[in-house]
Amino acid sequence: MILWNLIRVMPAEGTRMEQSTPFRAIHLPIGPIPIPHAVRFMRVVADFCILGGGIAGLTLARSLSASGRTVAIVERDVAGRGAGYAAAGMLAPLVEARVEEREVVGFGYRALLHYPEFVADLEAESGMTVGYRTEGTLIVGVDRDDTEAIRHQFQEHQELGLPVEWLSGYECRKMEPCLAPGIPGGVFSPRDHQIDNRLLLEALRISLHRRDHVTIIEGAGDGAIVETGAGAGYVAGELTVEAGHLIIATGAHGELLGPLGLGGAIRPVKGQIIRLDQSSMPLLDHVVRSPEMYLVPKLDGTVVLGASSEDRGFDPSITAGEILELLRAAWECVPGIYELPIVETRVGFRPATIDHAPMLGGSGVDNISLATGYYRHGILFSPYAAEILAAYLLRGDESEWLTTFSPGRFHATSTERLSC
Ligand SMILES: Cc1cc2nc3c(=O)[nH]c(=O)nc-3n(C[C@H](O)[C@H](O)[C@H](O)COP(=O)(O)OP(=O)(O)OC[C@H]3O[C@@H](n4cnc5c(N)ncnc54)[C@H](O)[C@@H]3O)c2cc1C
Repeated sequence: MILWNLIRVMPAEGTRMEQSTPFRAIHLPIGPIPIPHAVRFMRVVADFCILGGGIAGLTLARSLSASGRTVAIVERDVAGRGAGYAAAGMLAPLVEARVEEREVVGFGYRALLHYPEFVADLEAESGMTVGYRTEGTLIVGVDRDDTEAIRHQFQEHQELGLPVEWLSGYECRKMEPCLAPGIPGGVFSPRDHQIDNRLLLEALRISLHRRDHVTIIEGAGDGAIVETGAGAGYVAGELTVEAGHLIIATGAHGELLGPLGLGGAIRPVKGQIIRLDQSSMPLLDHVVRSPEMYLVPKLDGTVVLGASSEDRGFDPSITAGEILELLRAAWECVPGIYELPIVETRVGFRPATIDHAPMLGGSGVDNISLATGYYRHGILFSPYAAEILAAYLLRGDESEWLTTFSPGRFHATSTERLSC
């Protein structure tokens, strides 16, 4: 059921809207969200138009609108239901660190440091908690091969100077008593935190809903970027958005990048993920990982078990094999999960670039920027990336990250380019 009383009926000052059929700009902050009817006959004028209402788009809208500038978010489907909804919510730049990904690790670490302030502000704005947990992350192996792999990774962590420590099997079990008795040892990373990504998305929606100069348009369907007198615009069916600047934050969906000379720069990496219920039999407090899976306990009593990593395009199927592998790997580490009810299985699509680093900043076409390619770390990266891009778009503040992650590194040599 659509909560009609929550439908925004008046445009904010500075944002102009005109429509000739029932209004479809919808804000549904809490509860199950129905797919809204198609957007029809609407014209919106705003300073910024963000395409994509995932974690990247919503955090960017929040950072941009903090200045009082008008922001329109155009979501093809339902905001907050993309990969960010499927995710596990780990804020883990350190345990996943690889020497060859120094820049991504560095960015992730800065993003992690930004989180406490971001959470405090967002919780105050939205009036709700977002399940931020700082117990840390434990990586364990169940056999000699696993332990070797973890030791190798630990050496890389030391090379990178990361604050992690090696623990014996006894010390691991002292920290998490439900670990399998034979676990030989592991690594503890106290600074790899986690958050409830679903509460986070909800809090973002509430926070944005409270800003009259932000408009979220859902159910817009597919559209195209167009040139307008104001800067750049977007047309989808009967919806037209005119904006001074347009930002593409469409996650793994790269269709709009082709005309910018960036076709093929983004691909979806499928992840199958499971939610278990440990509320009647609490097993874990820390995030527990092995080379083959992770278990992320949430404050609501669920444990997220993930995730597969598959290059299969947008294949939405849940497969017996991947689910079996995840459950087996989790059971070998924490045998007690055998008894836990499965409450959900889900598929999400990580937005991956060729070099697995973000695309953040100008697209190479005037008045169009990108905020995507966050791959395995979109929950971690988004709030910090949003601040960096907003500072640039609002005040021209340069950041080294905008150079490092410039979308221009993927520009095709000969592609028909859009000019706006
Ligand atoms: C199984 C799994 C586990 C993960 N675990 C973690 C984790 O623990 N920690 C972490 O940091 N990250 C994790 N990630 C990664 C993280 O979820 C992503 O990096 C992040 O969600 C990307 O955010 P996004 O906003 O770019 O994309 P999305 O969240 O996918 O949002 C994109 C939005 O754009 C919309 N859209 C697409 N095309 C259009 C269009 N043409 N017009 C308008 N709207 C459009 C979509 O409908 C969608 O709502 C995980 C991902 C998966 C799949």
